[in-house]
Amino acid sequence: MTVSKPRASDGFFDDVNYYFDQASRYTDVPSDVLAQIRMCNGVYRIRFPVVRDDGKIAVIEAYRAEHSHHRLPTKGGIRYAMDVSQDEVMALAALMTYKCAVVDVPFGGAKGGVRVDPRRASASFLQRLTRRYTSELIRKRFIGPDVDVPAPDVGTGAREMGWIYDTYKSQGPDTLNALACVTGKAMSLHGVAGREEATGVGAVIALQHFLSEPEDMKPLGLTPGLSGKRVIVQGLGKVGYHAAREVIRQGGSVVGVSVSDGALYDPDGLEVDAVFDHRRESGSLVGFPRAQVLANPDEVLEKPCEILIPAALEHQITRDNAPRLQAKVIVEGANGPVDPKADAMLREAGLAIVPDIYANAGGVVVSYFEWIKNLSHVSFERMTRRYQQIANDRLLGVLTRLTGRTLPPKDEALLLHAPTEIDFVRTALENTLAISYKRIRTRWKEQALPDLRTSAYASAIEKVGDAYVLDGIFP
Ligand code: NAD
Repeated sequence: MTVSKPRASDGFFDDVNYYFDQASRYTDVPSDVLAQIRMCNGVYRIRFPVVRDDGKIAVIEAYRAEHSHHRLPTKGGIRYAMDVSQDEVMALAALMTYKCAVVDVPFGGAKGGVRVDPRRASASFLQRLTRRYTSELIRKRFIGPDVDVPAPDVGTGAREMGWIYDTYKSQGPDTLNALACVTGKAMSLHGVAGREEATGVGAVIALQHFLSEPEDMKPLGLTPGLSGKRVIVQGLGKVGYHAAREVIRQGGSVVGVSVSDGALYDPDGLEVDAVFDHRRESGSLVGFPRAQVLANPDEVLEKPCEILIPAALEHQITRDNAPRLQAKVIVEGANGPVDPKADAMLREAGLAIVPDIYANAGGVVVSYFEWIKNLSHVSFERMTRRYQQIANDRLLGVLTRLTGRTLPPKDEALLLHAPTEIDFVRTALENTLAISYKRIRTRWKEQALPDLRTSAYASAIEKVGDAYVLDGIFP
């Protein structure tokens, strides 16, 4: 059964601007600059024909929104779903602007959407559609390494990014840097190690930062750290699957997961890889051993847990289900999963929310690394790895000579480890999220702001505002 939830408000973009307005009161950005920041600078709405597998023509509706050009290129995923709309891409593009600012990624925000159900379309149809959509974006300069760089979102992945790259390489104005026209590409197409899991892993890194402060845990009645905590993950796609795996890797227990047509709950903890394999092989969660199967995926959100990671879609937690949540902490793996009415109710009830513009920023951080790698045409470890190996080897030699002792094999292996691309990407991601968390938490406490979301928005608004004020406004 697929359950479609009514939205608390029809305006997702209004919701983002509601959070913006709340937070802007705590900044000293002038009101005329605020008015410019909160608008969506440009939306390209297209309808184009794609030949279906039966030879007939399907008319496809698609969008690309560029919310802010204060930094270029703009950046944001492309969503394939039947309910994409202009309002949705504008909201998601705005979130990208603020997210990039929170984690110091020098991009403006953008988002694309194509009205298609990728589960019902054949690969060849999707390829024709993706190539046509890309060529429409090229025609209007809504794609390019220096103007607007898409990435995967709901319903798209490395395969679609490969088609986009290939189309741009064939038709785009810039062949030298064509690789940097899109991120989230496969490794064989010069993607970057760690991009696929970056958003999910980043959400758990964000959670760990939140859980690390004893002072913040006290009002929630929680002990610091993830170890032993029960986590429910909504959505088992690119974000949710990797978040769930990372929760387990870091000592938490995933007691519930949901997908669009069902959910599983097991208070003793689910083996996420086994759940994933079971669904892939059988096409459903039904029949997964031991766990309770729930036909309505929304039910799992209300099961006992300490932490809830909504990682599916926007507007999943509304005033209708907010009072029934049992979690103490919500980590927004998805964009906009908690609407403003639910946000206020949850805050009142003492829950804490790690907001989307920080919690799911891991994806755009690593996309930024991929873009840099593609523009420099060299992988991160290529120029240093062998040198690092030699240097480590020399250090080990000196240590052994001076002490007259050999290191235990485990320590020797640690010392001799030469970094690969994933080491650079992962540590740079961790560093970025640590710095950003420190900044938004400090502001939250020092200014006594209502919550982390307000702090993250205020920080982002000031950075974008600074760009307008310091760069000046053309002409
Ligand atoms: P995806 O298409 O890979 O996965 C979406 C998942 O949600 C699927 O497992 C689907 O079954 C599930 N789902 C849909 N409706 C559901 C429902 N009602 N209940 C439970 N599950 C449901 O998409 P994704 O890339 O994982 O994106 C998920 C969210 O994260 C979106 O809000 C997206 O904008 C956001 N996000 C994604 C990235 C990224 O790098 N992919 C980065 C930042 C934010």
